[in-house]
Amino acid sequence: MRVLVTGGAGFIGSHFVRRMLAGAYPQFADAEITLLDAFTYAGSMVNLSSAHGDPRLDVIPGDICDAPLVADVMRGVDCVVHFAAESHVDRSIAGAQEFIRTNVLGTQTLLQAALDAGVGKFVHVSTDEVYGSIETGSWDETQSLAPNSPYSASKASSDLLVRSFHRTHGLHTCITRCSNNYGPFQLPEKVIPLFVTHLMDGRKVPLYGDGEHVRDWLHVDDHCQGIALVAAGGRSGEVYNIGGGTELSNRELTGRLLDLLELDWSMVEWVADRKGHDRRYSVNTGKISAELGYAPRVPFEDGLADTVRWYQENRDIWEPRKWALPERKSAAPDTSALAVGAAGAGFGGGL
Ligand code: NAD
Repeated sequence: MRVLVTGGAGFIGSHFVRRMLAGAYPQFADAEITLLDAFTYAGSMVNLSSAHGDPRLDVIPGDICDAPLVADVMRGVDCVVHFAAESHVDRSIAGAQEFIRTNVLGTQTLLQAALDAGVGKFVHVSTDEVYGSIETGSWDETQSLAPNSPYSASKASSDLLVRSFHRTHGLHTCITRCSNNYGPFQLPEKVIPLFVTHLMDGRKVPLYGDGEHVRDWLHVDDHCQGIALVAAGGRSGEVYNIGGGTELSNRELTGRLLDLLELDWSMVEWVADRKGHDRRYSVNTGKISAELGYAPRVPFEDGLADTVRWYQENRDIWEPRKWALPERKSAAPDTSALAVGAAGAGFGGGL
């Protein structure tokens, strides 16, 4: 079986590829992987170093908006797992054009090529942010879409395109909508690796607004397990929520990270709230549990402690990438800057 993984050099896509090659998904034991990735600031071969040289992995640098390339890559593919996206909400607030190009046009380009090539299954990796914000209770998959950021609007648009290719053309599609991922190899622009790496270097961390925004936390390994279940057994045209089952306010999350690093609240700098900041996300995962036997396996306490340890032990992987981020280049640390300092350039504690 040939699986096309788009965005496979990013945080979640690379985890999925590494785990598939390691035999973690029995349904894909014989899979050969074609990986298509544009290697934007968010993608790196460093994330795939453990798979380097594996003959089952074919890495193709390229843009999912490049229709001739995508048509070529799609030939002989049995299943598409589509991760490629612009994924950082704060960047979409600063400028949304690239989000529309990649997330909307790129998804349409892939769908058309998959349809033309007669691909058997198209799994679109989306987000719970398409549902908007919820005060109490949890969303199931019948919830209407009400995205609030340019990022989530672009993802909702791509979800609707996926739906249309199923309804209009009969393409076998599934959409997954997950909560906030964390784990090793995440680029330090998202809140957990940003906070951990700042705190490790004695820098204050920027906490948005009153810190009471609530997110459900999902270990990347659980997310990828859920995606593999959907890719193997998800029903055509269906949407599946994937969650981790641990809801925390950003203030609570920050407290846990401070505890793990044996630091106190003097390391927190309260910053103005993000524009349009959704108050709470919460997914009901009953459907994927009942239909496909999904259950998160990584307890949050263990996953968070392991993640902190990974950043402590892998500075050579994350540090060059952190200081290469466009907004941080001018704030790269020299040795004198490693003392306790301000949060520095960049966005707030973005999720
Ligand atoms: P990421 O930003 O770490 O990786 C995105 C990858 O896509 C990178 O390797 C990048 O090079 C590639 N890419 C970007 N534009 C491209 C283009 N035009 N053509 C080809 N490749 C391109 O993202 P992630 O955190 O791994 O997220 C993966 C998917 O999961 C995304 O679709 C995202 O919307 C979704 N998601 C992520 C989270 C999360 O917490 N990280 C939560 C919900 C949903």
